[in-house]
Amino acid sequence: MNTVEKLTEIFKMFPGIGERQAKRFVYFLMSRNQGSLEELSNLLLQLKKETRQCNECFRFFSLKNETASTLCNICKDPNIDSSTLLIIERDSDLESIQKSGIYNGKYFVLGGLVPIVEKNTTKAIRLNDLKNKTKNENLKEIILAFSLSPQGDHTDFYLRNELKNITEEKNIKISSLGRGLSTGTELEYSDNDTIKHALQNRQ
Ligand SMILES: [Zn+2]
Repeated sequence: MNTVEKLTEIFKMFPGIGERQAKRFVYFLMSRNQGSLEELSNLLLQLKKETRQCNECFRFFSLKNETASTLCNICKDPNIDSSTLLIIERDSDLESIQKSGIYNGKYFVLGGLVPIVEKNTTKAIRLNDLKNKTKNENLKEIILAFSLSPQGDHTDFYLRNELKNITEEKNIKISSLGRGLSTGTELEYSDNDTIKHALQNRQ
């Protein structure tokens, strides 16, 4: 594979990017001057150095001044309600809910949705981390907040089942967000009112 082909393959791995778009990105890069490509590659190298994944909720966060931190600002915040855990698919979903300003509990980034057909689910999501968290923390409620899609529904169903023993034993309520969302809605693109409505009407 030459460089153009290799780059195309890499862009194809980006979320929502197909072959044609991947090629357009590569052509775009070819049209840039040396300086802007160097800036881009430097930024890419910096990205891992300046960000970290939170040990608690698994979201990515920027390190700013503190270099040793293993927890993000939400998990470090003493004012958050640590009895509620909201589970979302990805970092961008968490951002949308944060922005709506109506949720003050903890988060857990699942890292994906559960594939409907595939058998090896543990690869797609952080199931063991979630189970440990549910077991070891003093939770009163777990809110499942996935997109209203067949895979989102499947993930909701799957997690309720997987967590059943622990939640029943510890008397933790499980609710689902989504009644306020319309079918096919991606959490990421929902506005504040929609998220607020969905949270208030969780069941
Ligand atoms: Zn965190």
